[in-house]
Amino acid sequence: MMHTPLLRIERLTKTYGDLTAVDDVDLSVEAGEIFALLGPNGAGKTTLISCVCGMVQRFTGRVRVAGFDVRDDYPVTRRLVGVVPQELNFDGFFKARKVLAYQAGFFGKRRAKARARRLLEDFRLAEKADANTRWLSGGMKRRLMICKALIHEPVLLFLDEPTAGVDVELRDELWAYVRRLRDEGTTVFLTTHYLEEAEHLADRIAILRDGKLVLLETNAGLKSRFGQRWLEIRFQEAVGDDAVARLGADSVRRLDDRTLRFSYREEPSTLAQSAIEPLLNRIHSEGLRVAAIDGGASSLEDIFRQVMRREQDASPVPFPAVRPNPADN
Ligand code: ATP
Repeated sequence: MMHTPLLRIERLTKTYGDLTAVDDVDLSVEAGEIFALLGPNGAGKTTLISCVCGMVQRFTGRVRVAGFDVRDDYPVTRRLVGVVPQELNFDGFFKARKVLAYQAGFFGKRRAKARARRLLEDFRLAEKADANTRWLSGGMKRRLMICKALIHEPVLLFLDEPTAGVDVELRDELWAYVRRLRDEGTTVFLTTHYLEEAEHLADRIAILRDGKLVLLETNAGLKSRFGQRWLEIRFQEAVGDDAVARLGADSVRRLDDRTLRFSYREEPSTLAQSAIEPLLNRIHSEGLRVAAIDGGASSLEDIFRQVMRREQDASPVPFPAVRPNPADN
């Protein structure tokens, strides 16, 4: 039987006049994933979401949710999907509880009262349930938008830059809630500028640039495929270039006359035997005395910069490879 991903986007292109906002994008999202779409301002993230959620209808290509076409079967897909947009999407003169009741009514949801109560409690809005929404703080409004998107129990939730401009406490709370949603069975598709957010939350990460998908990879795979580990050694005395050359490391950068940074692209589990021990042995036989050692792994931020650089250089190497369908892996 053919595998049906929860979201399948094929050859999606959206133009506004001469501008191609989304350019021939293929991607699939599996049920149960947290999927992050990263990209700089204007990359086309919101446009892509809008095509999936029915806010934009004129595009080329095909988008299906649970096998249903988002244009031909819109009444079905609209129910499967929840969207938290960047901009406020409720009337400031409505009470929070009413916002949820109206939205539930729009979807013909019965027994929505109890769900609304639970959502308001989960998002610490219970006390404000009967306050006019224009009196809520910015963070509270944002939380209410998430409640609104969840009231009809969508299976796929889109969060368009959920933590832009929120404080660290609310960000952590939202992150915890996103994980909980996923654990309870909702698939989450988020867009973000924040690499840290994608790194913390997402199972898979896609990067969009000028409307094109330039990378699609698992979070862990991304780090092990492109990530580097580094070891920084500070010596007790200055180290000459000759001595550095004799250490025979593949990638070494001088930070100052006494400090060297060695980079490796190897699995952490084999790194000690294959790279670090031989290096320390050579340091020892060179008679160099170590004052301090530090080490770590490159972050997604470094990887993101690498990927962006390669795109700008229009590198002929197909790097990184785009994998449209995780089921093929
Ligand atoms: P940001 O991170 O800044 O929100 P984004 O990645 O979400 O950016 P989009 O909002 O999708 O980017 O915009 C992609 C491009 O399409 C931009 O150049 C934008 O100006 C353009 N665009 C979006 N909507 C329209 C529209 N309705 N009419 C004309 N151009 C549009």
